[in-house]
Amino acid sequence: MTASQAGIVVAGGGLAGLRTVEELRALGYAGTVTVLAAERRPPYDRPPLSKQLLAGAVDDTSLRAELDSLGAEFRLGEPARRLGDGMVGTGRGEYPFERLVVATGARPIALPGPGRQRFLRTIDDALALRATLVPGARLVVVGAGWIGAELATAAAARGCRVSVVEAARAPLAGAIGAEVGAKTAPWYAEAGVELLLGQAVESVQEGGLALAGGGWLAADEVVTAVGVRPEVAWLESSAVKLENGVAVDEQLRSSVPGVYAVGDCAAFWSGRFGRHRGADRLVWRGDPSGPHWAACWLAGERLAGERLAGERLVAVLTVGLPRDLHQGRRLIESAAVVDAGRIADLAVPLRDSAR
Ligand SMILES: Cc1cc2nc3c(=O)[nH]c(=O)nc-3n(C[C@H](O)[C@H](O)[C@H](O)COP(=O)(O)OP(=O)(O)OC[C@H]3O[C@@H](n4cnc5c(N)ncnc54)[C@H](O)[C@@H]3O)c2cc1C
Repeated sequence: MTASQAGIVVAGGGLAGLRTVEELRALGYAGTVTVLAAERRPPYDRPPLSKQLLAGAVDDTSLRAELDSLGAEFRLGEPARRLGDGMVGTGRGEYPFERLVVATGARPIALPGPGRQRFLRTIDDALALRATLVPGARLVVVGAGWIGAELATAAAARGCRVSVVEAARAPLAGAIGAEVGAKTAPWYAEAGVELLLGQAVESVQEGGLALAGGGWLAADEVVTAVGVRPEVAWLESSAVKLENGVAVDEQLRSSVPGVYAVGDCAAFWSGRFGRHRGADRLVWRGDPSGPHWAACWLAGERLAGERLAGERLVAVLTVGLPRDLHQGRRLIESAAVVDAGRIADLAVPLRDSAR
């Protein structure tokens, strides 16, 4: 390939890589597009892996029936290994580019120890795991995050004996905070899952887990679901600035001209929220011990005496309130100033909390 044909190289054939190619074509880009993809499968969707696929409702979560119409070259099973000056190297060749889009996603964090631990990141992981979820099997999931919760529920529904071990004092503490996460703890027992909180794991051994403090938890299968790290090791010797992922600005540009990053591998700076913008307070909408409620996080400007003014909704979690999810998303996007009292009142439609 000559430099004039170099076009755009996309590293990563997951959701972000595929959407990049689709968007380029939708915007009229007619140049060469090459996708370097570590996995041998065409792009597929991951959220159904821990839901419909584990439940046995689907076997395939492909994102697109055919790739040919995109006019891009998908090089499946050919991961990017290094970034040179205007060129990406793989084990099979070198690919010059005018623009590079890094979309290499994230990889699960492993626990120490010689025992077998499974993960739930790829469709192959999910299919292999599903085959082990037989009635009576003793499954231990490490980590009570979203994926741990979904996996535990699916496994219990398939007749497994399931325990979830979590180092924090509440489920989902890292994602939504311990106060809201604690409201989900009863759901485990309701699903027939044993939840062990405040219990760190020391290592994975053959036949189970060695627990911090000296305990032992027997398991036929251990699944580690304690989080992911951006898949950017292949860029470590390059000039691209890494900050828990590829550091990008609000236009997804990295520190190297012509190199962009998207999806889970990108450490994104938002023009509106900044990189570390948190909430000032949590407002409960409805009764969180009941079946229909929402947690709404507000951020606002501080006036003298700590009084908050001009509060905006910055995040929302809904339980049994799908309409609130939709309306909450719109409120966040519009950055409308909201009335906290109206937010707390379930009788008031969430959208009507905008002032
Ligand atoms: C089980 C599960 C359930 C989830 N559920 C939800 C959900 O309910 N809601 C939600 O919002 N999100 C959910 N997610 C997260 C969501 O799937 C990810 O945010 C999304 O897949 C990110 O897309 P991505 O393209 O950035 O990364 P990925 O989907 O990880 O794709 C990256 C691809 O790049 C490949 N790759 C890695 N290194 C290289 C390399 N050097 N060269 C070339 N290719 C490489 C990887 O193999 C992978 O195929 C879930 C994830 C999982 C695993």
